[in-house]
Amino acid sequence: MTAALVEQLSAAVSGEVRADEPLAGYTTLKVGGPAQALVRAESVDDLLAVAEISRRSGVPWLIVGRGSNLLVADRGWPGVAVALGRAFRGAERAGSDGGSLGAAVEVLAGGAEPMPILANTVAGWHLGGLAFGVAIPGSVGGAVRMNAGAHGSQMRDVLVEAEVIRLTTGVPECIPAVDLDMSYRQTTLPSDAVVVRARLRLHRASHATLTGDMSEMRQWRRDHQPINEPSCGSVFRNPPGDSAGRLIEAAGMKGHRVGAAEVSRVHANFITVGPGARAADVYAVIHEVTDAVERQSGVRLQTEVVTVGFSSDHPTHVGGVS
Ligand SMILES: Cc1cc2nc3c(=O)[nH]c(=O)nc-3n(C[C@H](O)[C@H](O)[C@H](O)COP(=O)(O)OP(=O)(O)OC[C@H]3O[C@@H](n4cnc5c(N)ncnc54)[C@H](O)[C@@H]3O)c2cc1C
Repeated sequence: MTAALVEQLSAAVSGEVRADEPLAGYTTLKVGGPAQALVRAESVDDLLAVAEISRRSGVPWLIVGRGSNLLVADRGWPGVAVALGRAFRGAERAGSDGGSLGAAVEVLAGGAEPMPILANTVAGWHLGGLAFGVAIPGSVGGAVRMNAGAHGSQMRDVLVEAEVIRLTTGVPECIPAVDLDMSYRQTTLPSDAVVVRARLRLHRASHATLTGDMSEMRQWRRDHQPINEPSCGSVFRNPPGDSAGRLIEAAGMKGHRVGAAEVSRVHANFITVGPGARAADVYAVIHEVTDAVERQSGVRLQTEVVTVGFSSDHPTHVGGVS
């Protein structure tokens, strides 16, 4: 079945197709099993071809950005993982780039562009509004999907519209940000929508201020987060009016370990992994922390990380036709 699927995909797309590709290397946690096939899409036509083959064969798909918010099960993903290739990188200014400080300037950014690179690019154009992205290791598409944010700013503040391809229908659409109900680390972006480009509204700003802000943000990360160990960033959403890290610490779970996965001693809302870690270790830590916090404080934490291929997964974000 895999061979037939890979054959169909290879014949239909211009980008790379790999059979039984381990997804661990596509995530920042570095754990997780293989996808039946991985397609690196290099054009909108490639995405449309994947959509068509997925529809015909009934094989589900999964959109993978930079994998910085993904926990893939050890048994992997029984379908097609779709990553955007270099054709979806880059950014350009749309319209005039003149104007005084504060003047609005729009930027079109590819769905695969890494947020830290984009933050630096637009700072080089003397444009403010995206400095917060400098330490978010995701792609533009992933950041739109998650309404990524940091240091008091979020994608909702700058997104004008998302250009998407709907994988269930193969239809391209432009979805205005106001229709995405962007709130704390969530959006109503349809689960079959691949963000191929985002239109952002930024503003003219001083280059020195932007680089100073970004350097402070990076330093803050070095001081407060375990950035040199594999993780997926914050595992849990902060409950209203509280912080997940504080609740985890109060429940005595800082340093709690299963196998090679551990609640970080630097920041309790991070789970870091060591050599030989399995996705099952991370998953077990998530469940044990959730239960311990609920016992101690009565609050049931909700995950921010997107889990893939575990039996109890909620299907949100993971598209497919099965
Ligand atoms: C060290 C570290 C620090 C972090 N700090 C922050 C932070 O400060 N703030 C914050 O918000 N997050 C943070 N994160 C989490 C993560 O970087 C963000 O959630 C990011 O937006 C995920 O983007 P991604 O490309 O890695 O998406 P992935 O992890 O690959 O995928 C996440 C979700 O987005 C979907 N997706 C990915 N690409 C697309 C696309 N092109 N179109 C449609 N859907 C897509 C996936 O299907 C999945 O549902 C951190 C993570 C790490 C490892």
